[in-house]
Amino acid sequence: MFKRILVANRGEIALRIFRACREMGIETVAIFSEADRGAAYLDLADEAYCVGPPRATDSYLKMDRVISTAEIGNVQAIHPGYGFLAENAHFAEICRSCKIEFVGPSHEAMQLLGDKNAARDLARKADVPTVPGSDGLLENEAQALAIAHEIGFPVLIKASAGGGGRGMRVARNDLSLKSALQQAKAEAQAAFGNGDIYLEKYVGHPRHVEVQIMADTHGNVVHLWERDCTMQRRHQKLIEESPSPQLADETRQAMCEAAVRLVQAADYTNAGTVEFIVDEEGHHYFIELNARIQVEHPVTEMITGIDLIKAQILVAAGEPLPFAQEDIPSRGVAIECRINAEDPEHNFRPSPGKITHFVPPGGFGVRFDSHIHAGYEISPYYDSLIAKLIVHQPTRHDAIACMRRALSEMRIDGIKTTVPLLLKILETSDFVEGRVDTTFVERTWPS
Ligand code: ADP
Repeated sequence: MFKRILVANRGEIALRIFRACREMGIETVAIFSEADRGAAYLDLADEAYCVGPPRATDSYLKMDRVISTAEIGNVQAIHPGYGFLAENAHFAEICRSCKIEFVGPSHEAMQLLGDKNAARDLARKADVPTVPGSDGLLENEAQALAIAHEIGFPVLIKASAGGGGRGMRVARNDLSLKSALQQAKAEAQAAFGNGDIYLEKYVGHPRHVEVQIMADTHGNVVHLWERDCTMQRRHQKLIEESPSPQLADETRQAMCEAAVRLVQAADYTNAGTVEFIVDEEGHHYFIELNARIQVEHPVTEMITGIDLIKAQILVAAGEPLPFAQEDIPSRGVAIECRINAEDPEHNFRPSPGKITHFVPPGGFGVRFDSHIHAGYEISPYYDSLIAKLIVHQPTRHDAIACMRRALSEMRIDGIKTTVPLLLKILETSDFVEGRVDTTFVERTWPS
């Protein structure tokens, strides 16, 4: 087993990984930017090194500095968390060429699945349902028009290298398809340096359901059930839960089995998430595989009782998974609310600043994953996620009541947060009945 691990991340996920390592008897080396210097969560690492100025491109994303810190810190592995370098295949390759284990999949698997068109191809070969659309990349306008007429409008143009909702364009007729093709191509070229695009049917009012998988280097692949992340705003997840409400048992089983088949076909190891959309008739379609631990992983940890970060580290060290498929329960209901330092009253603009007063939530079935405290200064340089509040209860009814109680007893003063919006969502009958789709927030509160 590793003696020391470098955590190439910041904030709540860095703290989450320090905690897992501490319990495993592994020492941790933290990195921080000048903006994060002196942050209290860094005290929970055994050592911490500054890697540069506040901007992520000058610090957390600087591969040479991260690698040289790993050398100085004498670590055997790097855990990338999510975001930053987590899905950078080149970084994973550099780590391995420096004889440092990257806690994640091989760079080959990452490269293959990072290309969404290639992942779609692989899914089709593994008999995993994909959204009807082009067989591969779009070559010209005439071909795109022909496919759109065959499957019917509306259609979605997607960038093969896309991520974070960028490079996606909806088209509802010939004219808008022609301009969507050009815009999507230009946006993809500018954002990812790769203008490859493909076409999918635009699924109306979908739910977003994803399957957590875990695979070791000995050929064992398991799923850890699904998470429903339908509650989104502009493709950003707000609330996640498991099990997915209103999902037929057969669909759940079929999705979990499909996720395992895809991972086996990709020769994928470590933690991953297979994302699907589910249409109004309950058909599920693969959209992409995320080759990292995800923000919402605690939901799965609560219902299965499995620590995913520890499992990731075991797998990276070459150990077999300590559990088999039949040992993985789905017990009770877990819900997570993402708490962002954003102002929902002003179009969710970031709300950096000092937290003047803070009362954390607690009590039965409550888990609070966060690095914040009274006096903590939220930096404008990074993602606005500051905390995750997770509850675990026997039923969904209890979980919603517990989440409302926990959210309303928590106090974060000095900055604006998404808590008022989360409370509003939890009170809607649509959410309580589990009858929402990914457009719910925008439809319900258009302004
Ligand atoms: P990204 O990698 O940019 O996050 P995804 O392919 O994961 O892109 O899609 C992001 C979101 O867009 C999904 O969660 C879903 O809400 C929506 N979406 C993706 N594909 C479709 C589709 N074919 N029809 C309708 N909505 C879709």
